[in-house]
Amino acid sequence: MERLLLVSFILVGWLRGQTEATQREEVKGMKEVLIIVDMQRGFLEPGRPLYCGDAVREKVIPNVKELIEQKLKEGAILIFTQDSHKPDDLEFKMWPPHCIEGTEEEEIVPELAGYKGYRVKKRRYSAFFNTNLEEILNEIKPDKVTVCGVCTDICVLYTVADLRNRDYPVEVYEKCVASFDPEAHEWALKHMEKILGVKVIR
Ligand SMILES: [Zn+2]
Repeated sequence: MERLLLVSFILVGWLRGQTEATQREEVKGMKEVLIIVDMQRGFLEPGRPLYCGDAVREKVIPNVKELIEQKLKEGAILIFTQDSHKPDDLEFKMWPPHCIEGTEEEEIVPELAGYKGYRVKKRRYSAFFNTNLEEILNEIKPDKVTVCGVCTDICVLYTVADLRNRDYPVEVYEKCVASFDPEAHEWALKHMEKILGVKVIR
């Protein structure tokens, strides 16, 4: 009896292994990238000049973490973008000084900082402007790009638009993006869906 049990255990284990292997094979053919936009202390830590607020922080950090875990299991490659400015950046005519290079604000939030992946430092809303994101994507040649992070209507939107200009299929999970301006968040999701042809998952 014990022997029979042992054999069944081994058999079930083997079958499960086979199924997982098949699933992995299926995903392997499909190259996916997850771009995590500006999940930085400067935007998500209370007290910072451009803090997005508690509601954004509480929504987006756990949901993005969960998405990262899910996408890693599916074999996706992670690309973190980081807003990174010189102290005299002209963007500070529009916004208070934030995310200056080498400061704590520039760092990825501690909840996500441990994940391996590309780090793309950017000076403007789009992660393509004056960065090597284009080359990274040209090398990976992803079949699909999922984008998450902050803010939906600013850096997420402009990065997504530039991905669509390059014909990458893009997916955005509503629960994994956020903005300090909830109306602008909703508007940006509709714009991405209707005008940029993004698959928005709610
Ligand atoms: Zn900035």
